Amino acid sequence: MIKPLVAGNWKMHGNTATASNLAAQLAEQWGDNLAVEMVLFPPFVHLSAVKAAVANTVIAVGAQNISQHSSGAYTGEISGAMLVDQGCDFVLVGHSERRELFSESNQTVAEKFKAAQDVGLTPILCVGESLQQRQQEQTLDVVAAQIAAVIDCVGLNNVCRAVIAYEPVWAIGTGEVASPEQAQQVHSAIRAQLGEAGVETRLLYGGSVKASSAAELFTQQDINGGLVGGASLEAQEFLNIVKLAE
Ligand code: PEP
Repeated sequence: MIKPLVAGNWKMHGNTATASNLAAQLAEQWGDNLAVEMVLFPPFVHLSAVKAAVANTVIAVGAQNISQHSSGAYTGEISGAMLVDQGCDFVLVGHSERRELFSESNQTVAEKFKAAQDVGLTPILCVGESLQQRQQEQTLDVVAAQIAAVIDCVGLNNVCRAVIAYEPVWAIGTGEVASPEQAQQVHSAIRAQLGEAGVETRLLYGGSVKASSAAELFTQQDINGGLVGGASLEAQEFLNIVKLAE
């Protein structure tokens, strides 16, 4: 039995007060619930406030990005050890906004994945195709190549002990959700790519998930939870999504 995981990616929103407040509301209502693992991804500068707000609860905290380097002259970057020091257990790698807007290649994503595991963080590897790639029927090839690049770097078993989030780029922040069948098709291809080693790997769906769409997505065989952007900024909506993963 795979324990579901629902993650909230707060992106570049809020301030210390709103971040603490949102985390405190979630802590109050989900702080001791072990049925679904909840992970919050605030901006770097709000990590310590969020960590304090969820102290003594089962809610975990993660960062939205990590440097592939362990330390040194990399102005503006944040290392894995620094994230651990802030109380992080998870980190997002390969989010499509990082791939597209900050030119992160499959190789860079693989190096970041490795940097995360080297310090004991669990990476959530984000993969997904653009609208054009879907229209050209390249979805499964694109996703397989994104995962293969990480397998080449760290090995299959290390990929399998992480979390993978399938996030079609055309569905992120657009209000357009993949149908449960579209999502399941990709999730089952990912499961097949991982083989025996990946039967327990958590595969999340992300892309405009709301409480109204989560139920059907979460009942698909190879969907083990969600990575939620916009809808994770509102406590009640996010909690409703988390409950649907139970
Ligand atoms: C995301 O940021 O990973 C995401 C899925 O965002 P949204 O839910 O807003 O589409």
